[in-house]
Amino acid sequence: MNSRRTFLTQSAFALASSAAGQTAPSGDWYGRPMRWAQLTLVEDDPGNYDPAFWLDYFKRTHSDAACLSAGGCVAYYPTKVPLHYRSKFLGSRDSFGELVAGCRKLGMNVVARTDPHAAHQDVYDAHPDWIAVEANGKPRRHWADPTLWVTCGLGPYNFQFMTAVTREIMSLYRVDGIFSNRWDGSGMCYCKHCQANFKAFAGLELPRTEDPRNEARRQYIVWRQARLFELWRLWDGEIKKINPNASFIANAGGGALSDLDMKTIGDLAPTLFADRQARRGLMPPWTNGKNGKEYGATLGAKAIAGIFSMGVEEQYRWKDSVQGAGEIRLWVADGIAHNLRPWFTKFNGKVIDRRWIKVVEDIYGWHHRNERYLRNERSLARVAIVYSQQTANFYGGERARAKVEDHALGFYQALVEARVPFDMVHDLLLDPDRLTPYRTLILPNIAALSDAQCRQLAQFVERGGNLIATYETSLYNEWGVRRNNFGLSSLFGAAFDGRVDARVQNSYLNVDKDPRTGQFHSLVRGLEDATRIVNGAAWVHAKPTTPLDSVPLTLVPSYPDLPMEQVFPRVPRTNTPGLYLRQHARGRVVYFPFDLDRTFWEVLAPDHGLLLRNAVAWAHNEEQPLVVEGRGILDVSLWMQKDSLAAHLVNLTNPMMMKGPVREILPSPPQQVRIRVPEGKRPRNVHFLVAAKPAPHRIANGVISVDVPPIGVHEVIAVDLA
Ligand SMILES: [Zn+2]
Repeated sequence: MNSRRTFLTQSAFALASSAAGQTAPSGDWYGRPMRWAQLTLVEDDPGNYDPAFWLDYFKRTHSDAACLSAGGCVAYYPTKVPLHYRSKFLGSRDSFGELVAGCRKLGMNVVARTDPHAAHQDVYDAHPDWIAVEANGKPRRHWADPTLWVTCGLGPYNFQFMTAVTREIMSLYRVDGIFSNRWDGSGMCYCKHCQANFKAFAGLELPRTEDPRNEARRQYIVWRQARLFELWRLWDGEIKKINPNASFIANAGGGALSDLDMKTIGDLAPTLFADRQARRGLMPPWTNGKNGKEYGATLGAKAIAGIFSMGVEEQYRWKDSVQGAGEIRLWVADGIAHNLRPWFTKFNGKVIDRRWIKVVEDIYGWHHRNERYLRNERSLARVAIVYSQQTANFYGGERARAKVEDHALGFYQALVEARVPFDMVHDLLLDPDRLTPYRTLILPNIAALSDAQCRQLAQFVERGGNLIATYETSLYNEWGVRRNNFGLSSLFGAAFDGRVDARVQNSYLNVDKDPRTGQFHSLVRGLEDATRIVNGAAWVHAKPTTPLDSVPLTLVPSYPDLPMEQVFPRVPRTNTPGLYLRQHARGRVVYFPFDLDRTFWEVLAPDHGLLLRNAVAWAHNEEQPLVVEGRGILDVSLWMQKDSLAAHLVNLTNPMMMKGPVREILPSPPQQVRIRVPEGKRPRNVHFLVAAKPAPHRIANGVISVDVPPIGVHEVIAVDLA
């Protein structure tokens, strides 16, 4: 098992270093574009839409890069690759070429879009083995358009046919890169190539379960990634043979639930595009900013664009729709606040509903006017949430959303409510260099950690870093196999006591004074009158390994919640700690042995939010570099540019915040802001970028204080530095 893991790591490293060797010299273009425009043509666009409208719109919006449909499922240029389907409406035109030429006249970078996930009948007839196969052995028709077939992402369709298409597009147009959508297959494929290739890799049949405890499933996760990174390297190499300053840029990446290793992606990709077009389901507007943080964790200072669409998304996929202006503005603003360069995408060149046009033009015009304050070099956040794809893959499996992501979402919401500026960190990048900017790390049920990762976290605390962890953090190794004890037991001051109650009903926590001081610990500040607060819904049995300085919360075990006559605690008081907090070496550590963060996401009980906020305040033990005080809910961030600072305040105060729709923009109440100036810098001007006026301020002890008038969607306090 470990040898194959090593294989993946090594091939990822080999891949990364070979790509680095081919990277264009320092004059490369990837960091230049600040605003992207994407036009995804539909088959009947050629001859039926107005390219001049789009080119004029790109100019009006100061878009400096474009992503344009070229080929794959449908070719929009006169291709000569056999079986590469040309749009029936293309005739003798070259729709892609016309747009490329127009964009170049505007000085824009151009990336060609391909989409290899679907093929026409003639492909099926000529190469039935290029088509994806279902678990029942049948070739897979396209779920949305049954005249098409779904292709296998891991076999010759991509490795041979799409490589030829990639080469042709590069030779004809020498574009700056190829962005491929849905290039990584469409779920499990049981074709003969996948069967044979997987057998050669793992010696096993393809898995028929998503349970990561199944050995074939584990190996499949490893093999699929290796195969896709091989494809990435192949296409990137072919592209660079024709234009060394161009790259393959996959539509890939995300947070814990994304399936390709973000660390490898961060090494490979010269820039990346976060494809989260709009909300769906229960999704607050900060989700877009979360994307920026997740990508930034492994991309570092490389440019990241945030793809947004104007449409109502959701599972029904109304791709031709237009959502309300307020919602578009809020979604994009939250991305900008977290370092995403805006990228609008429009499907269909024939504009039906025109209401989005002015909205995007306004956003882009503002962005262009203030570009120098948006070209971020680094975040000044001192707190970071760790995310772990390994935990999602090998511990969460098919239930990763509930078991892993919901913990992170709960902590994320608590930090937004507490107005703490924070980044995200990838669990494979816990080396001292990467962690230097941070004083406090948060591990929201990061259950699967290797011994080496645990050592890195211990070293972080020994250097003076602080740690907050919840639930089963470090109780499993990197393969999701349970340990006998927490990997971080010595940091937590807690040992695993052999049992996890995955569902706890009607249980509480006593809130106690410290018997030695007669005072409440600051971790339960605001709960002094509560006596007893609700517990989480899942509990890890643990016991202290060292005497605890203070135990402000103790367990009240579950008792009957019916019949009402029986609803009284059988054991009203225990010595079982509800949290472990301690000074360890030079750092502070807080461990909650229950799913506090996940329960907060599910229930949003204010007591749980308060505990999470207090834990960060106690562990961190230092004023944040950006402090925003006032009423309402604001998502905040603080960025440094070459000669300036920018503090972003995004106003999420809205009765429909958690699901994300916006009926009207409700201005936030006024806010009092403090910004700590980095050492060695001297502030000159301070101004509001949205209100577009100077910001009255005071400076004392290296801290700028600003009173911010009510904010509509977004305000940025920009500080020029001498
Ligand atoms: Zn296949």
